[in-house]
Amino acid sequence: VRPPGIGAVGEWLGAWARRVIDEEPALTRLDRQAGDGDFGTNMVAALGRLDVEALRTASSPAQAFAAVSDAYLGHAGGTSGALFGVWFRRLGSAAADAGADAGSVVFAVPDLARGARSGLDAITALGGARPGDKTMIDALDPAVRALETAVADGRDTGATPSAAAALSSAADAAVRGAESTAEITARRGRASYIGEAARGVVDPGALVMAWLFEEASRAA
Ligand code: ADP
Ligand code: MG
Ligand code: MG
Repeated sequence: VRPPGIGAVGEWLGAWARRVIDEEPALTRLDRQAGDGDFGTNMVAALGRLDVEALRTASSPAQAFAAVSDAYLGHAGGTSGALFGVWFRRLGSAAADAGADAGSVVFAVPDLARGARSGLDAITALGGARPGDKTMIDALDPAVRALETAVADGRDTGATPSAAAALSSAADAAVRGAESTAEITARRGRASYIGEAARGVVDPGALVMAWLFEEASRAA
């Protein structure tokens, strides 16, 4: 019997990677408008190296996350390569700590919430950005809080948190957060160099992070 969670982490990550690769031109356009134009290339450099079939058949969530982390840390340049690399590393550690190993492909919502919080902390420690700085944090921070709320609500009512409901609220929060980056001029990252000109442009890192939660919600 599968505990409630994301049914197949490898399928989730594979679907997300394909989506990011397909959207490379749009991501490049956004980073050209508010950055230096290499974001799409950096994403494809990492995710294009992933063996999506191997991801789908990964023996554990920890292994699937580690493969994505390795792809980023080994092949992507830019700020985003390092940040996505540590993010997926922390998710993998949380999955391993949760014992979601031994051939299991599930990742329960409380474990995901813990891993996501840990990953957000790692991104913050490395990059120093805060909510409102027009970065991937603007999608990630509300998503993590939505997951934590779902876990806390479940604890209060004694019910097991429904993965579908928790992930759907995390995805909504992440998408709203990503969209909100269009309204802010950047204080961190390269987009900060051009100030007001970045207004109206969605941050591509926030968008890709929002898609990760959307694909999780679809996979749940
Ligand atoms: P670079 O800025 O080095 O060219 P990329 O274009 O690959 O790197 O990545 C840009 C993305 O990285 C942005 O869209 C933003 O979401 C994210 N980013 C940049 N700086 C930070 C930071 N300090 N903290 C969190 N995310 C950041
Ligand atoms: Mg860039
Ligand atoms: Mg760059």
